[in-house]
Amino acid sequence: MLRLFLEENFSGKNLVVVSNREPYIHKKVGTQIKVDRPAGGLTSALDDVLRAAGGIWVAWGSGSRDKDVVDNKSCIPVPPGNPSYTLKRVWLSPGIAENYYHGYANQVLWPLCHITLDRVYFRKRFWEDYKKANRIFAKAVLEESSDDSIVWIHDYHLCLLPGFLRDCKSDLTIAHFWHIPWPDWGVFRVCPQAKEILEGLLGNDLLGFQIPLFAKSFMDCVKECLDADLDYQNAVVTYKGHATRLKAFPISIDYQKFHAMATSRRAVNAIKRIKQKHRLDQGYIGIGVDRLEYTKALIKRLQAIDLFFERYARYRGRVTFIQIAVPTRTKEPYLSYQKAVGELIARINGKHATTDWKPVVYIDKKVEHQELVAYYRMADIGIISSVYDGMNLVAKEYVASQADGHGVLILSELAGAAEELEGALLVNPYDVEGFSDLIYKALKMPHTEKASRMAVLRQQVRANDIYKWIADILHEIVNICWMKSATGRYLFDNLDRIPVKNTFLFLDYDGTLSPIVESPDKAFIPGEIRDILLRLKKHMPIAIISGRALEDIKERVGIEDIIYAGNHGAEIWNGRRQVVRRHSAGDRDRLEELLRRLREDLMPIQGVMVEDKGITASIHFRKVSPKDMGAFFDAFRETVRGYEDTFRITAGKKVFEIRPLKAWNKGKAVSWIMEKFGKRKMPIYVGDDTTDEDAFKAIKGRGVSICVGGNPEADYYLKRQEEVGEFLEQLTGLSKISSFANL
Ligand code: UDP
Repeated sequence: MLRLFLEENFSGKNLVVVSNREPYIHKKVGTQIKVDRPAGGLTSALDDVLRAAGGIWVAWGSGSRDKDVVDNKSCIPVPPGNPSYTLKRVWLSPGIAENYYHGYANQVLWPLCHITLDRVYFRKRFWEDYKKANRIFAKAVLEESSDDSIVWIHDYHLCLLPGFLRDCKSDLTIAHFWHIPWPDWGVFRVCPQAKEILEGLLGNDLLGFQIPLFAKSFMDCVKECLDADLDYQNAVVTYKGHATRLKAFPISIDYQKFHAMATSRRAVNAIKRIKQKHRLDQGYIGIGVDRLEYTKALIKRLQAIDLFFERYARYRGRVTFIQIAVPTRTKEPYLSYQKAVGELIARINGKHATTDWKPVVYIDKKVEHQELVAYYRMADIGIISSVYDGMNLVAKEYVASQADGHGVLILSELAGAAEELEGALLVNPYDVEGFSDLIYKALKMPHTEKASRMAVLRQQVRANDIYKWIADILHEIVNICWMKSATGRYLFDNLDRIPVKNTFLFLDYDGTLSPIVESPDKAFIPGEIRDILLRLKKHMPIAIISGRALEDIKERVGIEDIIYAGNHGAEIWNGRRQVVRRHSAGDRDRLEELLRRLREDLMPIQGVMVEDKGITASIHFRKVSPKDMGAFFDAFRETVRGYEDTFRITAGKKVFEIRPLKAWNKGKAVSWIMEKFGKRKMPIYVGDDTTDEDAFKAIKGRGVSICVGGNPEADYYLKRQEEVGEFLEQLTGLSKISSFANL
């Protein structure tokens, strides 16, 4: 899928990925040079992208033998043995590296963004070298990019890079993903370089964050610090004439890979070995996996464990907590932190251990994923206690590795992952007493509740894996590229090209006539738009084309004598009666039968809503409680089995959509309506979503297509939904003039 998308959208474009960390490191081992790959989902997923799309990855050459293997442009084809893209290394002197990386990045931006202000150290030399390092990166990127290039930057090491690039090559498309949290203004204001950092980041066309809160906090900081134009609704900041779009893209993991590793023979053997080694055959196991990092709050977690054994003494000897803590930063304050963690573990073990059991098993070195999945799978509880965290991938890895499906995830409510992972037990890591009680609650939880919570979690992570994350960002980048290349294609600069005589107007509903809202039942058409349509219909035929059921869309728009296409064109109303009901009686019978069975089978589960749209159906489960979710999925899966030869069943946000395999699309609907009711007319189609693409394509060369937010298949774009009303208003005026001229 990803490969196809890249081939379609990126061929001919030069993709330049930029990060501090490189995907391949050359090191000396004995007398030989060895290639190492840093572990981490992100580097391997981006490596996949570049393998498929080709391009360049610019990164700091930090390996001891990195310089020995590159050409005179500091480049080396990678992956070794099967090269498909280029790694370009950036060289930083030890002094600059120290101040830029260990200094400004790790002692200013990291603690600042994680709201641990007492760990923030501002030094003039940190900032000066941070600027220098960013300029060195900028030079390397510019050497390898043309106006057509797409630059995709990662993380907090490179805040100034977008601004430097924009100053030199204003046409570049630049996207940046911010992997860590973004603090609110009350915190960020303490940064002496706040203005420069924000200005640097506003060189981007797209700035991605883990969760919407961080994007909003960024916007608030800009509001307080810079004289910029802020569009909160569309999350766009315009500064010095340049627009930056802000958007949340929660990062994830390769679910399938973790699931496969966790169910492998190797993992099963590893579980046996680990249990034997630590004498864990009986009793419960808790697991914590972290970088040895103060933001992960290992001390608070250990205090909670200590308190748990004090309060619930009967669990002594019956629960063992394994703490894997890999040191990745080898300077202060990490050295002191490591010491404190080691000492606390020794104290807890000294206090509670018995002759054949110790409460905490401490593993203070890196465990590779192949082995890590064994720990995840065998653990009855996975614990994440970060005091602040952009996302936390360990939470998702634990879930994906829970092949037996009965582990409980205790997750800090202050980790980005808590936004998504319904089914976890959320903990406030500052509340050590509450934390210890939650450990007890997890252990006591009934088996059925554990299973249903884990089923919800696994479904969530499966549906939102790292490939979806990449595809979502790349989609957004493609759209931005299109908007930029569409200079001169802004609809309001082209009103003179819009046909006003002999026109047939097609309008999508959600996101076009009605703003996108949280819940689809709340998407109402603004009164002024309805008034404009009432006036406009005197001058031209109008058709509303929607994925909603015909009755629903007719009622929402509320204008009787215009055309409506519901269910993507499978139902059409010609203004007086329904003229198309494009489903076979057989399909309807099958759908009725399926819905009847679903209603029966799902009846015991509170909160399920079955929406029968005639030809298609939606099964909403937003209101199902987490403890029933497992039972819901099982019952749903069981019931729909056997209907897959007639229906396509897809998952949306807390909804399953059931559609006949032969369902129509909006393009076919528009062509059919034109053929029947508008043979010699000129179609104008206004839409906003990917489902409208079929319609844009269908009228290509015969009419005018307009997309809210832009789309490569559409002729013109509008910047936001509110502009649809303005356009329709103008169209009314123009049509009136043309009607008079025709008299
Ligand atoms: N990790 C690992 N081995 C270890 C400990 C951690 O491979 O012994 C990996 C872990 O699997 C995860 C990453 O380190 O992929 C930690 O990512 P997370 O988002 O949880 O925290 P971060 O370290 O990025 O702050």
